[in-house]
Amino acid sequence: MKTIASHNGLKATAESWRLLAAGRSALDACVEGVTQVEDDPDDLTVGYGGLPNEDGVVELDAAVMDGRTHLGGAVAGLRDVRHATRVARLVMEHTSRVLLVGEGARQFALAHGFVAENLLTEQARRMWLYWKRRRSTLDDWLTPAEDEDLELRAWYEKRFYRPEFPGGTGMPGGTVHCSALDGEGHLACATSTSGHAFKLAGRVGDSPILGAGLYVDNQVGSCGSIGHGEANLRHLSSFLAVELMRGGREPVDAGLEVLRRIVDKTPPRERDAAGRPTFQLMLFLLRRDGSHAGVSLHAGRQLAVADATGQRLEACASLWD
Ligand code: ASP
Repeated sequence: MKTIASHNGLKATAESWRLLAAGRSALDACVEGVTQVEDDPDDLTVGYGGLPNEDGVVELDAAVMDGRTHLGGAVAGLRDVRHATRVARLVMEHTSRVLLVGEGARQFALAHGFVAENLLTEQARRMWLYWKRRRSTLDDWLTPAEDEDLELRAWYEKRFYRPEFPGGTGMPGGTVHCSALDGEGHLACATSTSGHAFKLAGRVGDSPILGAGLYVDNQVGSCGSIGHGEANLRHLSSFLAVELMRGGREPVDAGLEVLRRIVDKTPPRERDAAGRPTFQLMLFLLRRDGSHAGVSLHAGRQLAVADATGQRLEACASLWD
């Protein structure tokens, strides 16, 4: 038994491991694990407290996939309902469909008893307004003064400006992914996100797309990803990683190979002066035999792991230091 998650998923792996150890399925483990992060108002990238789209509305994407049945369920652009992954599970279990979007997904959730609430926290609202004021000098919004809102300024500069990528967009994203291997040898995975901060209204990323933001094949392994979703959408990265493991690659080699292919085809507008992608991307791989890896384009990232030896953060292997 084992469970792995993105760096922000320690709460997910703790809950996921607790359920696995109690004999529950990999599907229960990863869905309920991710739900813990959706509930956390301090995670600005997932569920309640996630940063909104450019209009100030939180829109969630999430998906689950169950290796035991090879079924999947997903929601995209879901408003007002924080537990997007549980809703995705119900799409998988109560319908013959895979993906519901927007108002249809919301109505489906409400029909199943999920409570509608405002997902925009005070903190996220303030960050959104700060972003609106900072992003351009060509609109009606006045740029905040140097000494105004120093905390927000520091946050904004850390998140949207990275000296290694002058001119780049930084990393206005984040997501939680969790994969689990249960006591019966079944795999499952879940990915949940509020998507890129301040995205275009209606933008859907990789997280709710089976094969892109997550994929599992019970005979091979599971993979999920966080980072620049458009790169995963163009490469079906999670599917590719599982297929490379099927071909005999170790999880770390499969993950790094996916990243190399992405780098190879990254468009010029998403590269820095040295040709490296200006975005970050992480893949988390869990093979059927319990071996695992986390990989990232740029160094310094971690993954959360829980197994019989305990819970820990491990370093991701990366293409660049
Ligand atoms: N992959 C997510 C998306 O593109 C965001 C992220 O993980 O940073 O919506």
